This record gives sequence, C-alpha cells and structure tokens, in this order.
Amino acid sequence: MPALDQVLAQIHSDELAELTRDLIRIPSVYRPGEPGGNEERVARFVESWLRREGVEVLVQEVAPGRPNIIGWIGEKTPGRKSLLLEGHTDVVTEGDAGHWTWPPFSAELVDGRIYGRGAADMKSGLAAAMVAVAALRRAGVEPRGKLVLGALVDEEDAMLGVRHLVTTDVGRELDAAIICEPEQNELCLEQRGVVWARFRARGRMAHGAMPEAGVNPIACLGAILREAPALERRLRRRCTRSRHLRPPTVTPTIAQAPPRGVGVPQSNVIPALAELTLDIRLTAGIDADGVRSELEAVCARAAAGCPGAKVEWEPVNPFRLATQVDRAEPLVQCMIRGVREGAGRAPKFGGVPGSTDGTVLRMELGIPIVTCGPGNRLIPHQVNEYVDVAEIAEAARIYAAAALSYLES
Ligand SMILES: [Zn+2]
Repeated sequence: MPALDQVLAQIHSDELAELTRDLIRIPSVYRPGEPGGNEERVARFVESWLRREGVEVLVQEVAPGRPNIIGWIGEKTPGRKSLLLEGHTDVVTEGDAGHWTWPPFSAELVDGRIYGRGAADMKSGLAAAMVAVAALRRAGVEPRGKLVLGALVDEEDAMLGVRHLVTTDVGRELDAAIICEPEQNELCLEQRGVVWARFRARGRMAHGAMPEAGVNPIACLGAILREAPALERRLRRRCTRSRHLRPPTVTPTIAQAPPRGVGVPQSNVIPALAELTLDIRLTAGIDADGVRSELEAVCARAAAGCPGAKVEWEPVNPFRLATQVDRAEPLVQCMIRGVREGAGRAPKFGGVPGSTDGTVLRMELGIPIVTCGPGNRLIPHQVNEYVDVAEIAEAARIYAAAALSYLES
C-alpha cells in the first residue's frame, strides 16, 4: 500500500469529532487576572495527547500560564525541509452564554455538526492538524524532513505565541507553514493586513463657556474623521486589487476625549487631549513606510485645520501588512495536490479577510504560508459557532497529503 493510503487509513472522523469536542470543553478564553483564565489547561491536554502518540514535544513558556506546545516528527537535516501546521489554543469570549442554543463549552454534536466556542476558530483545525501528524506516525511513515505542529497562544490578541516562536530555533528553521484557520478548506494565498493607528490631538484645557481661552483637541478628531474617506481612497489606489479580498478599508473604532486614565470627562471642560483610533485593513502593494507617510499626511492636514493644536499618531500594535504567496510556490502546489489526493476534489481558492498568526510567520520569517482549515469563514466569534465533522476530516486528510507531498519535494 502506498504511504499516503496508509496514512489516510489512520484518519477517522469519529476520533476527530471527539478530539474537537474535548478541546472545546476546556475553555481557553484569555481573561487576565482570573485564575485559569488562559490557555494552560488546553495546551497541557494537547501536550499529553501528542506524547501518547509518540510525537516529540517542546513546551515554550511564552508568559505565565500561557505555553506554546510544539510537537514534531522527523528531522530537519541538510537538504530536507521543515513544515509547520499552525493552530492557536485561545478562543474569544463566549459573550452572553444565555444567547447560545447549547452551552458554549458543552460541544454539543447535532446532525454531524459540533457547536461551541472555538468549534471553528479553531479547535477543529487544531484537532485536524494533531491527527494528521499522528496519522503519519501511526502508519509508520517516516517523513523526509520535519513535520511540526504548533499549538500557539494569544492569536486573538497580541499574537505573543507566534511572535515568540519566530525567535526560537524550531521557528527559525521553518521553510513553510499551513495555517489551519477556518476557511471552509479553501486554499487562501492572501490575507489582508491590519494597522491600528491611534491619533492623539493635544490642545489646551479651558472652560466650556470660554472656548477662546483654550484650544479644543476634539475639533482635531473631527478633522481626522473627515480625512478618513480620503485616506481610504488613497490606500485603495496604492494597494493591488485582489479577486479574493475586499479592498483596503479605514474604519474609526475608538474616540475618547479625554482618553481613559487622563482626567475625567466633564460637560463644561475642554479637555487637553483627545484620541481617535483607525482600524486600517490593507491588501498587498504598500509597505510599512508607505503606510507611515500616509498617516503623517493625515496628521499634517488635521493639524492645519486646528490652529494651536498638535496632532501625532502611533501604532497600537506592530504593523501586520497584507501577505500574498505565489501560486507557483512548492507549498501551494503541494496543497493543491493535497486537496486532490486527500479530499478527492478540485481545490477552491479564497482569501483571509483578517490577519492571523500566518501574517507574522510570513513577515518575520519570509516563508510561504497557505491558510486552509475547517469551518465557515463567517462564523468565528459569533454565538452558536459550529463546525461540520465532515469538514474536519477533510482538513486532516488534506494536511496529511500535502505534508507528505511537501516534505518529499
Ligand atoms: Zn483563529
């Protein structure tokens, strides 16, 4: 029996369903300050599961109670490659549990569908990746090269897990990565970038009845808001068009005057400071300097409209630019083969509307990434999040077939 058939024979949808349900039943919302409000329990579950399967495991303590679990089979030797199957262990808040049809962490299985927080984003993708790695091992197939599983922390927030991984040996030696996020098992070669820009306008405090005695920074926020559509148009001109992604967008998300922690808002006081955050989403074609110069220009125009005020901006997070991978990349070719051989169908292509840990891998390591995983692309972070068991099984088969093909290449 050829190696791939032996490996695929080790992938069973019942096991995938149960593993996904086990992972969902361990809540892993990051709640700072709350005992157990982190990824530790689910990470330790992944660790023991991998050890039982005979997979090598490394625990990277990224922050207290927040470990990355890295598992691998095979070895990276000269001329051989290292491929990462990437997932994250954190999930976003369930919100008001009363709005869910079934409790958000009960992982109800109804008509081939599993419901719960993290069902799609992304405990099912993680389960599919774990089983894909284990299936190679169970089949006794020694990969040419190294197949790595990363169960990383903090994807939903500052991406501390992947930022840590890229500074370590096992991260630096990676040649490519499959990001197992919910994309309906489509092959996504592009993801939009994100920049959160916080503008700060500095004026001068005064009595609301005597505005001429001060400089009102809130007027500057108005000027920045008026600039936002023009900024969006300029970014759309500078970025490339994509068949799979929406064009760049500029969305105001936070406006505060005075900002939190800097005084108390009062109806008769012109504050000294005002802040506005823009959530900027990008497609490929613009670099970090290009974005910076556009934001500087917004500051200059806003300041010109508000005599006496100072306007500056700062990034809230490190920049995550849009990423794109060429269809000719060996990883992409192997994923196409993986879909044909593992799922028995032609591949579909798509794009990732937001940014993921893959963005960091692509930007920091320069390696090709393809995002492909089980779950409806629109369902993450919603109430009654779900995933179809058939899609989880298909994902595991795609990962196993693509990994074999990539490590052979
Ligand atoms: Zn996710």
